[in-house]
Amino acid sequence: MLYLVPTPIGNLEDITLRALRVLREVSLILAEDTRTSKKLLAHYQIETPLRSYHAHNEHAVTAALAAQMEGGADMALISDAGTPGISDPGFLLARECLRRGIRVECLPGATAFVPALVASGLPCDKFHFEGFLPHKKGRASRIEYLAGLPFTFVLYESPHRLLKCLQQLAGACGPERQACVARELTKIHEEVRTDSLNALIEYFSKPDRVRGEIVLVVEGNKGADGKDRD
Ligand code: SAM
Repeated sequence: MLYLVPTPIGNLEDITLRALRVLREVSLILAEDTRTSKKLLAHYQIETPLRSYHAHNEHAVTAALAAQMEGGADMALISDAGTPGISDPGFLLARECLRRGIRVECLPGATAFVPALVASGLPCDKFHFEGFLPHKKGRASRIEYLAGLPFTFVLYESPHRLLKCLQQLAGACGPERQACVARELTKIHEEVRTDSLNALIEYFSKPDRVRGEIVLVVEGNKGADGKDRD
């Protein structure tokens, strides 16, 4: 059996009792970065063996791991933070296990985009999750596409690209479109700031304000479905 187990995105208390039990009981934990995961596991006195499973080896090792699970081993996949498979490795292994008839369970738990979306105050009844945008090729056309969506959309962005991203979004969506920068969620310097793209550009133009991990939430195009969503 394969368990996909969410781990905290900052605050170490954000892990479920079931996640801790599963991580204790499986025979092997597959981790994106074993050094990062060792700290979490040490905090909870979990001594299950770890093996690395990340974007650079997932294609090479997925079949062998699935074969071990077919042979009876239960494994858990964790990423550095949040839910595996969400802008992190997980999809390939889940698909391979299902293909071989191995049970796959994903525990509910921490992920960065849900608290960002819900705390943004922007409509969250319907939304699009984009994850990371391409850095260069295809970025502008993807932003154009997103700007036309009639519902809220969510991006992951690195701090050094935040300002440029806000400027590109303002170009495609218009400077008055509402958006939210959710930074350092669950950590000491958590900040959730919702304002027009223009106002966010002005605020985050000060480099010392752009630090840490960031989720960007952008209001949908109100004109796109002909309905006012307020
Ligand atoms: N698997 C993770 C999840 O479930 O959210 C996402 C992993 S992705 C490689 C890392 C990105 O998630 C960061 O660059 C940032 O955009 C977002 N992120 C992770 N932790 C965050 C936090 N504490 N606050 C804001 N954004 C966070």
